[in-house]
Amino acid sequence: MDRTGSRPHSASPKPVTSPLQSSLSGFALLVTLGSLAGCASTGDSLPSGQGGAVVHAAMQVKPAAFRAAPSSSPRDAALRSPLYRTSRIAKMKCEMPRLEDGNWGSMRRYMQTVSGCLDRVWAKQFAKMHKSYKAPKRYFLKARINVAACGGTMPQAGAYGTYCPDNKTYYVLAESRTWASRNGMWAAHLVAHEHGHYIQDLAGILDYADELQANAATEDESVLAENRSEDQAGCFAAAALQATRDTLPSWSKFMAMYKREKDLKAYGAWLDRGFSSGRPGSCNTWTAPSKNIG
Ligand SMILES: [Zn+2]
Repeated sequence: MDRTGSRPHSASPKPVTSPLQSSLSGFALLVTLGSLAGCASTGDSLPSGQGGAVVHAAMQVKPAAFRAAPSSSPRDAALRSPLYRTSRIAKMKCEMPRLEDGNWGSMRRYMQTVSGCLDRVWAKQFAKMHKSYKAPKRYFLKARINVAACGGTMPQAGAYGTYCPDNKTYYVLAESRTWASRNGMWAAHLVAHEHGHYIQDLAGILDYADELQANAATEDESVLAENRSEDQAGCFAAAALQATRDTLPSWSKFMAMYKREKDLKAYGAWLDRGFSSGRPGSCNTWTAPSKNIG
């Protein structure tokens, strides 16, 4: 696998509720990419772009402008990102559609609305650094699809979401077992986590994750680098979601589910950190002791 920036970053938000741990349902229908075009907007003042992308046209600039300055090494970008110095993410009004049990359309609209809100949240945060923000592309799917540009199936097998740096796109799976109103925060967190990987990419941080993994002498080192990246995506997700917490389901109930899973304890701690601080600066997993990473 190409280790120089094209490694897709899968969701670590491993499903935590028992209904979500079940195997994929066999009858899931493939939502074609084309059919998503025009459905991306959820009425929250966000225009729908082609292929399901939601784009703030006024904020579009050439990709090079988003990246860390050329003089900044990937290590600098990860350890000393200017993003860490931005102030707490301010509260933002975000009207969420109702989630209906067993209704795929309502889950897709919910995820689309969350992702649209995240664009607004992160655009404001990037503006604090005098940097432009361009929305990533995103797809909310009933079943995995093959994406040649990302080297295979998206989301990756075993993950509910994967961010693919090669096409600046994230893919989130919403299969039938997840279409339940009780899964609102789980779904929001999943979308925000993948969005978090995109933010890492914009900030140049993902390059460092890939560099560390490529140079890892042992499997443990490689896993540690990957977990630092996953924990940070979760922390960014939580920091962004706290901005829209008034219209989202209970965070504490969601976290209670998470904390029942022993192997997600470290990740859960980063979620807590991001949500309670609302500051990207609380998400510097790259300088944290390895015992806090998982
Ligand atoms: Zn991830």
